[in-house]
Amino acid sequence: ATPLAIAAGVQAAAERGVVVATETIFEDAPDVDVVVLDKTGTLTTGTMTVERVHTADAIAPDDLLRRAGTLEALSEHPIATAVADAAPGSATDDDAAGDAVAAFERADRGVTGRVDGEHITVGHPDFLRERGLDIPDALESCVADVREAGHVPVAVGWDGRVRGVIAVGDSPRAELDDALEAVAAGREVVVLTGDEGPAAEGLRELDGVDEVFAGVPPEAKAETVDRLRGRGTVAMVGDGSNDAPALAAADVGIAMGGGTKLATDAADAVIVDDDLEAVAETFTVATRTHRRIR
Ligand code: ADP
Ligand code: MG
Repeated sequence: ATPLAIAAGVQAAAERGVVVATETIFEDAPDVDVVVLDKTGTLTTGTMTVERVHTADAIAPDDLLRRAGTLEALSEHPIATAVADAAPGSATDDDAAGDAVAAFERADRGVTGRVDGEHITVGHPDFLRERGLDIPDALESCVADVREAGHVPVAVGWDGRVRGVIAVGDSPRAELDDALEAVAAGREVVVLTGDEGPAAEGLRELDGVDEVFAGVPPEAKAETVDRLRGRGTVAMVGDGSNDAPALAAADVGIAMGGGTKLATDAADAVIVDDDLEAVAETFTVATRTHRRIR
């Protein structure tokens, strides 16, 4: 009866838009104590837009955007897609592709590579700082203003200096409130985000959210999941390449189907149409299926 019960569980999950990749999910998902949710692309739609472009050194905003967009076209991050889409006629440089992709794979907080013979870096302001680029005071205060407005500041720099800050906006998924309520029933809900500032802090106010870890660099996401396993069985829900190690580290990894291949490959289940409410459905189906297996 066991293989039949599992087949029925896989089928029931599929009817709710959840593709089961690992059958052990029927054992682990009923016992989930802590649900960790990634912010960008999971709680938010993942369709981001460029809201404003600030530049220093009398650089034309379109020029800055074009350079940034050329590199971001190589990244799958929702921020990257927004910047690439907003960029006027991206430049092409054969060297850029190789350099940028290699660098991106090492550090998930931005991209770096050559555009028009210039070495460009785009990403989290700290990512540029760590790479030795100085941020002029005027742009430093832009970063604060952008965060204050609830947007994500994306720094762009070359030749030792940050030259501009692109404000990228995001919107919460329509079903967020209902989905959080369902997920929070009897479980602790933790939000994990690389962002910081008011947009990240505001997540604490959401009903159902117990804790927010803001300013968590991608490489620390898996470590955070590991630490949370001290509190019980942990499910991680994410969408991005940089969520893949955390999805693998969790007892139950759930990926948004609209996310990157790295994320969906690392997950135990994939939510096909990105409906966040299907996360709670996954737990419900697994609980029912597990009873039948026993
Ligand atoms: P979240 O945890 O909210 O889903 P991520 O972990 O995906 O966010 O990314 C963390 C931060 O890294 C982003 O807020 C952004 O500042 C930066 N970042 C990552 N990839 C890129 C990129 N390709 N271009 C610009 N910024 C990036
Ligand atoms: Mg994400």
